[in-house]
Amino acid sequence: MINIKECNEPLVDIKKICPNIKIDLRERRMKKEKIAYLRKTVAEMILRAEKKLPRGMTFVIGDAWRPQYVQEEITKWFIKRFSKKYPSWSKDKIIKEVKKYVAPSNGKYASGHMTGGAVDLRLLKNGKKVPMKSSKLTYQENAKSFQPKLPQYIQKNRNIMFAALKKVGLSNCPKEYWHWSYGDIWWAKRNKKKTAIYGVIKNIF
Ligand SMILES: [Zn+2]
Repeated sequence: MINIKECNEPLVDIKKICPNIKIDLRERRMKKEKIAYLRKTVAEMILRAEKKLPRGMTFVIGDAWRPQYVQEEITKWFIKRFSKKYPSWSKDKIIKEVKKYVAPSNGKYASGHMTGGAVDLRLLKNGKKVPMKSSKLTYQENAKSFQPKLPQYIQKNRNIMFAALKKVGLSNCPKEYWHWSYGDIWWAKRNKKKTAIYGVIKNIF
């Protein structure tokens, strides 16, 4: 049993802590959400990790704190995408598959993104995205952090990112190489902690 003991640490604009980082929130986000918010400790961890990257490299943030309505939209988007991709699957099977990738938008085990403790990261080198996946693999195959089917140079790129983030205390979800967190219930679960320190923040607008 994991308890959530909210520590009330504020959300901060990551750019104010880590000015070199690139923000690339998904298009579906509204204009006012061009800012990526994270809990202060997590933002500071990313700054420390960035300093451990090779010269010319920084992180690009695909998602950070998520309002509840965005989490709901993501679930719908995945259902649509998987229904198209696997037309022979029943609705139940589609939903079961989606649940493997998308956390709920409410309840104790709501997505870590809703707490501001989780962040989706990739690497940039001199302004260009560093290859982290293969077009020969499926979404599910590419998503796995440990994926021996990937060409070696891509595994090497991933390892650069993983090493920097692990050193500062962020923890990776092994199902998604880009998803890192600290303090949320999923972090607690992965790291066998009894207490999570970040609860859900449904909206700040
Ligand atoms: Zn994520």
